[in-house]
Amino acid sequence: MKMKWLGLPRPIHPADKKGTAGMAIKPLTGFSRVTIPLDMQVGPGCEAIVAKGDHVEIGDPLGHPIGPWSVPVHASISGTVESVQDQILSDGGHAEYVTIVSDDLNTISECVKAPVVTDRESFLEAVRASGVVGLGGAAFPTHIKLNPPPGKTIDTLIVNAAECEPYITVDNMVCVEGADDCVAGALATAHWSGIDKIVIGLEDNKKDAAQAIREAVGRARQSEFWPSGGIDIKVLKTSYPTGAEKVLIRLINGRIVPEGGLPADAGVIVQNIMTLWFIARYLRTGMPLVKKWITLDGGAVKTPGNFEVPIGSTIEDVIEKAGGLKADPSKIIMGGPMMGVAVDDIKRPILKHNNAILVLTEEEAALPEESACIQCGRCFRACPMRLMPAALDKATRANNPAELSERHVLNCIECGSCTYVCPAKRYLVQNIRNGKSLVRAAKAAAREKGGKS
Ligand code: SF4
Ligand code: SF4
Repeated sequence: MKMKWLGLPRPIHPADKKGTAGMAIKPLTGFSRVTIPLDMQVGPGCEAIVAKGDHVEIGDPLGHPIGPWSVPVHASISGTVESVQDQILSDGGHAEYVTIVSDDLNTISECVKAPVVTDRESFLEAVRASGVVGLGGAAFPTHIKLNPPPGKTIDTLIVNAAECEPYITVDNMVCVEGADDCVAGALATAHWSGIDKIVIGLEDNKKDAAQAIREAVGRARQSEFWPSGGIDIKVLKTSYPTGAEKVLIRLINGRIVPEGGLPADAGVIVQNIMTLWFIARYLRTGMPLVKKWITLDGGAVKTPGNFEVPIGSTIEDVIEKAGGLKADPSKIIMGGPMMGVAVDDIKRPILKHNNAILVLTEEEAALPEESACIQCGRCFRACPMRLMPAALDKATRANNPAELSERHVLNCIECGSCTYVCPAKRYLVQNIRNGKSLVRAAKAAAREKGGKS
């Protein structure tokens, strides 16, 4: 039989379910209490600098960074610290949680002052002081991303406005409502990082966002930060996972990030559009990251929409203030249905990097029953990283980290495309995630053994 596949991954097209597209971002207020984890990032978080009984105002730091990767965490409401307690995070780790009981005054701290930025160092310091991490869901500290290892030449800042996950539309609204700040954030970031070219990548199902950004770029031409290589807007064909960093780089400028490498190895830095929008606002106002902008959707939600909520407010409170539920929730996901993580407790707090909360009904959440692999190869053809998902699944089930390593499991971006296309409904991405943990554990054990010998 003649093979049709030509060697390139086939993007997938899950139903976009973006029913909240075009809905303005509505602020939710009046939260009586927030519980803010001091670890909401890749790398170590913060150590508490407040104690029970302290009065705090919006923007006051709650935690002190404990390493070069750490960014501060700030109070999102004004009131009294009720407790500082060690609690278990949804990923199983631990962090100190600061609970603040509101005084209903929403007083803003005197610490909130626009930073003075005069050079690259002061820009990086300001970005760090703002508490920002990758707001598209990655939680990677932005000041680290903007400071690649020595010897890397970065010629392009890629702005990720693809938002390819089903349901999520909040980045789209950030572009529509805040296009000037999106462009100002990109200009400041590129200028202070010494990058000569900016490319903004969107999908062609976001015409309103593309138009708003195009107009904002036109208005920004006189900016003192206008880069010598200009700003390009690339409207990409809608498919999944366009917004995955490595896929976006390949689609924007054809470059491949080497295995185990960083975008900087391909001469680019990628920043999510909301992160840049926030940076522009921080540079202007000095208000650190105390609120988050999310899409709330799913069949169990009465009034889906895009909302601004204080960091540390519980999912339960956000749902209630947004209008409540119309059906029993069966599953809650932080993020989109393809790459998001299921939440074990509706009282979990909104984190810096949450971009969506999906509250699914039993029918929406039902997992199909797995059957045996029929070796059709669809998962292989769909994989944007050109991995062999069926083989990785098999090696994980066989508890074989050596084979998983040989098959480059750590290159998996956990996009879920393989699971989506599998006719046998194999739980591929779930198992491959476990396979990555097996390899990391095996590497850690080997390091420990090497260290002891
Ligand atoms: S989840 Fe991993 S293995 Fe599956 S398609 Fe995405 S990158 Fe490939
Ligand atoms: S798509 Fe499913 S059935 Fe087909 S090869 Fe992959 S795991 Fe097997």
